[in-house]
Amino acid sequence: MNFELDEKMNKGVDEAKRNYIDRDARRRKKRKIKKIIALAVLAIIACLIALVVYNYFAGRAFRTEKQFKEFADRVYSRETQQLDNDDAAVSYTFDKDFSVASRMDDNCTEEIKNYRNSRIESVTNYFRNQYLNSDNDMSYALIWDVYQDKTDSGADSIAISYRLYGENSDEVCLITNNIETHLYSSKTGRGLQPLQVLNTNYKYKAAEYAENYFKNKYDDEKLKPGWEEFTKPEGSNYNKFYFSGDNIIFIFDEDTVLDKEEGAVSVSIASRFMEQAVRSQILERYINPQAPMVAITYDDGPGGESEERILKCLQDNGSVATFFYLGNRVHTNPDALKKADEIGCQIGSHLWNHDLLTKLKDKEIRKQVKKTGDAIEKACGVRPDVARPPYGAYDTRVIDAIGMPSFLWTIDTLDWKTRNPKAIFKSVKKSKNLDGSVILMHSIYNETADATELIVPWLREHGYQTVTLNELVEYKTGSLPQKGVLYRKIK
Ligand code: ZN
Repeated sequence: MNFELDEKMNKGVDEAKRNYIDRDARRRKKRKIKKIIALAVLAIIACLIALVVYNYFAGRAFRTEKQFKEFADRVYSRETQQLDNDDAAVSYTFDKDFSVASRMDDNCTEEIKNYRNSRIESVTNYFRNQYLNSDNDMSYALIWDVYQDKTDSGADSIAISYRLYGENSDEVCLITNNIETHLYSSKTGRGLQPLQVLNTNYKYKAAEYAENYFKNKYDDEKLKPGWEEFTKPEGSNYNKFYFSGDNIIFIFDEDTVLDKEEGAVSVSIASRFMEQAVRSQILERYINPQAPMVAITYDDGPGGESEERILKCLQDNGSVATFFYLGNRVHTNPDALKKADEIGCQIGSHLWNHDLLTKLKDKEIRKQVKKTGDAIEKACGVRPDVARPPYGAYDTRVIDAIGMPSFLWTIDTLDWKTRNPKAIFKSVKKSKNLDGSVILMHSIYNETADATELIVPWLREHGYQTVTLNELVEYKTGSLPQKGVLYRKIK
């Protein structure tokens, strides 16, 4: 019994031992399989990550035509490319160093087409000159996106966006980006200022929305310190916007609300929220008496190409100026006078042949005033109602003999002397407050036309209205300019 029992017990122990050994082997085997599966899964994940990373970088490079097209399409499909423009056609110009893609449709007026094409051409050339000559192995991709729409109130709205990317050993970075906006009257093709399309309260309405939008959408660390400055309803904030269907989209430039690497950011506000702020009809000409105003003046014209470029720039930006024409030059470009009058500029007299009036007899001055007035009236149908004595040389006798209000200036750009667009621009920009200023330039130099193309959009962007001299005096003094008075500072 005992033996049997022992044997049984032994058997039992042996079996238990065997079982234990088997179980242990199985467990080890299972563990091994698990390990293999885990490793395999890890390997697959690693491969996937590598693939994603590879596609992310290698796929984003644009050294071949195929890569560039794929890259451009990806940029267009990403939400960060703020324009909602999916139906427009894309054209690609591949170049191994500097490729350009543009997305736009031709469903717009000739004016907009011309404006858009000339902007794209000049900015593309600018970047090509600035970046291609630099001493590196970078390859560049410039991606354009143009969006057009019409408002029920009679405005054509256009937004032009670009993104410039650089690529070096398969690393891609966004170098700069910008969105420009423009408004035109559908009826006249003239550029419009924000307040010709929106009511004076619009910045308050927009700010109310935008401030909350940024606070809710972005964490504090994403918002740039001091970002609130750019959402306040003042200065040049909210001057950049375009219309898209039922929305108004406001643009905040790169490095304002968000950090530079985030690029420009836009805020879309439904028109119904802006209801009281949108004009039901655009105003073809509008001056806000409360907003700062500047009178740009051009002497010695009409010129040739420079004059035409200046007029086009004024028209494109919905801006005006006052032209003081020389009587003996009027016959060289009568069309320029017609165009100036057509786009709302004021026509002035610089007398006949740039004589020093202080050396002339009264009779001679009066003769020059009449002769010049006749020539100008013959060219454009308008008789000049203001004058500027050549060289700004005057005395009370001269001012009386002219028999019209006479004007000097408050900002002398010295364009005739420097013939340098940047220096001319700087002479305007450096002034802290330009309200009431009269800017002196000469329309016969190409460098002045270059400077005009910098100054006029800058003024518009910084909230300055451009007005004629008559308008400036009327709004600042309460009455039109008076005969026999010399105006220099108008505040
Ligand atoms: Zn002059």
